[in-house]
Amino acid sequence: MIMNGKIGLIMGLANKFSIAYGIAESLKQMGAKLLFTSQTEYFKNKISDIAKSFGDHDVILCDVSKDGDIEKAFDCIVSTIGKIDFIVHSIAFSDKDELIGKYYNTTRANFLHAMNISCYSFTETCKHARSILKENGSLVTLTYYGSEKVVPNYNVMALAKAALETSVRYLAEDLGEFGIRVNAISAGPIKTLAASGVSEFSKILSYDRQRSPLRRNVTQQEIGDACTFLLSDMSSGITGEIIHVDCGSNIIGVKFDDV
Ligand code: NAP
Repeated sequence: MIMNGKIGLIMGLANKFSIAYGIAESLKQMGAKLLFTSQTEYFKNKISDIAKSFGDHDVILCDVSKDGDIEKAFDCIVSTIGKIDFIVHSIAFSDKDELIGKYYNTTRANFLHAMNISCYSFTETCKHARSILKENGSLVTLTYYGSEKVVPNYNVMALAKAALETSVRYLAEDLGEFGIRVNAISAGPIKTLAASGVSEFSKILSYDRQRSPLRRNVTQQEIGDACTFLLSDMSSGITGEIIHVDCGSNIIGVKFDDV
């Protein structure tokens, strides 16, 4: 029960298939209490039953693309519950019409929108982290291997993830003097709502399975357990890291079966 007595915020739960759900399950198993944000009233109602099973707090509205929403949500938490121990940022967005074909067809509008929601929102979260997190607080965001190597159709999301990973290092430096840690999990592919927007996602899943030293895809639970570790005091010496949780598939360059 390494999270006993800790309470934290999860941003980015859409449904039971979300990576955030696997993280919530693992945190709960380890004793944590949880709070959730949701982008809109519609989704807030959709996830409120799930959220109740994790801590009996109301879901807080927070559209990370709107100026002031993150700060408002954090103020609301501090005034009702007090300071918390950790934050999980499990949020990304791109127009799915641009997660197919050639990357250079990305529009300026979607490039900026994808960067805003998938990368800048984490910077803004960290900017306000000191107002909501206790000393020795911890933040984790989610990234993907497409930031390092070309993955068909991942396109603009790859750029947003590369920027997100670089921001993790800068944010870790910014917040380190306050004892706050910032890390990312580079998760292997999981079939979720967001992932199904990437064209031919099932091929990514099966290619990943074939490449992986463990010969399988990672599970929601495994990503959740790694995240719990990064949010717990067990990882107190780790910050600014991008940890791959993908059954090792990122370490394989070539497999002769492929050629
Ligand atoms: P998901 O269940 O669809 O979760 C994505 C979440 O982002 C949703 O809860 C969505 O909220 C939220 N979101 C989008 N725009 C938002 C906004 N403006 N304000 C607040 N929330 C917003 O998909 P997921 O796969 O679990 O994604 C979670 C994270 O894991 C993402 O960063 C993703 O890139 C990353 N990741 C996923 C995979 C994978 O294979 N699935 C692999 C590596 C990394 P609504 O439901 O309200 O729209």
